[in-house]
Amino acid sequence: MGGGIIGLSTAWRLSQRGLRVAAVDSRIMAGEASMAAAGMLAPGGEAHGDAPWARHTVEARAIYPDFVSELKGASGLEIDFRECGAIDIASNDEVWAELTARRAAQEPLGIQVREIGETEGRELVPLLRPGSFRALYYPDDAIVDPCQVNAALVETLKRAGVALLMHEPVSAIDPDGGGYAIRVDGASGSQNLLRAGSVVLAAGAWSNEIALPERVASRLPAPRRTMPVRGHLVERDGTPRALLPIARENHLYVFQRNRGTLLTGSNEERVGFDRTPNPAVVDEILGRTDRLLPGLFAPRTENSAWVGFRPGIEGEGPELRRLPEERIWLAYGHYRNGILLAPHTAAFLAGEIAG
Ligand SMILES: Cc1cc2nc3c(=O)[nH]c(=O)nc-3n(C[C@H](O)[C@H](O)[C@H](O)COP(=O)(O)OP(=O)(O)OC[C@H]3O[C@@H](n4cnc5c(N)ncnc54)[C@H](O)[C@@H]3O)c2cc1C
Repeated sequence: MGGGIIGLSTAWRLSQRGLRVAAVDSRIMAGEASMAAAGMLAPGGEAHGDAPWARHTVEARAIYPDFVSELKGASGLEIDFRECGAIDIASNDEVWAELTARRAAQEPLGIQVREIGETEGRELVPLLRPGSFRALYYPDDAIVDPCQVNAALVETLKRAGVALLMHEPVSAIDPDGGGYAIRVDGASGSQNLLRAGSVVLAAGAWSNEIALPERVASRLPAPRRTMPVRGHLVERDGTPRALLPIARENHLYVFQRNRGTLLTGSNEERVGFDRTPNPAVVDEILGRTDRLLPGLFAPRTENSAWVGFRPGIEGEGPELRRLPEERIWLAYGHYRNGILLAPHTAAFLAGEIAG
C-alpha cells in the first residue's frame, strides 16, 4: 500500500523472489515525497548517533552502487548517481561545536570524515565565499536523482508483470479468511479492491490514515504515528561541474546534478498537507545559497520551487516491522532519509516476507 520509493523498491524485491505483487497508490506512482526529494545519500549529514536506523543509513549507502547498477540494467534507463562527497562549512564557533559533536557521535558508525583546511576547502568548492571558515569533509556522501530511480523502478515493475494500481485510495486492510481484503474508498463508494496474503503498509506521511484490522489495537507496541514534515526545494540552471561535492552550512544544502541543474534546500514545517510553496521560504533558501556560494547561479535563470511531505515519525527511525500475529508489515516514517534507505528497507522486507 503506497507507491513511493519504499513501496516500489519493496515490490521489486518481492517480485524477484517469485511472489505475485501489486503496488497500490491513491494518486500516481512516486508522486509524493519520493518525487520531491533532493536525493542526497548522506549518512555524514544525517546520522547523529549510534542508533539502529543510523547504522542502516551506512549500510544502505554501501549497497547503493549495486542497487543503481542493477536497476539500470533491469529498466534500461539512466540514473544520475554520483559519489561526490560533502563539505560541511562552519563560519562560527557555535556551528563548529555542533559539527564536531556530530562527528564524535558518528565515530561508532564508521562514517569516514576528516577536518579540512581552507585551502583544501576552496580546492573542493572554488566558489565558496571569501572569509575564514572551518570544515569537515565526508568523502562517502553521494547523490542520486530520485525521479530517475522511481522511473526505473516503475519500468522494471511493469516488465516484471507487477500490477501498478493508481488512483485507488486504500481506506482499510480487513481480515479475510487467512489473508486480507484491501478496502478502497473510491468515488463510487467503498469497495474491496483485491485480496492479499501479505500486506506492506508504505503510504509515507499518510500511513496512519489506512485502518488496520481491529484486533491489532490490543497488541503492543502500537504502530507509531507518522506526520507530514513539509520541506521546500529550489532548482535552478547552472554551468555543469560548477559544484562537485555537496556543500552544507547550518541545515542548508546545495548540490549539482550531472546535467548542470543546481538544487538547494531545505526547511522543516509542520503545516499539514499544504501544497503551496511559501515565497518567503524560497527567497530565504536562495539568499543563503547566494551568500555561501556567490556566482553559483547563472544570471537571469528562472527558479523552480516545490514542496514535499517527509514522513515524519514519533520517536527515532522508521517504523519497520511485522505486526504481531499478522502478515502485515509497517514500512513508513523514513523522514529525511527514505531515498537513501529504500534499498535497505526493501531487502529487509523481502527477506522477512518471502524468506
Ligand atoms: C524537500 C525534501 C527533500 C528530501 N531530501 C531527501 C534526500 O536528500 N535524501 C533522502 O534519502 N530523503 C530525502 N527526503 C525524504 C524522502 O523523500 C522520503 O523519506 C521518502 O520519499 C519516503 O518514501 P515513501 O515511499 O515512504 O513515501 P512517499 O514517497 O510519500 O510515498 C507514499 C505514497 O503513498 C501514497 N498514499 C497515500 N495515501 C494512500 C492511501 N490511502 N492508499 C494508497 N496509497 C496512498 C501516496 O500517494 C504516495 O505515493 C526528502 C523529502 C523532502 C520532502
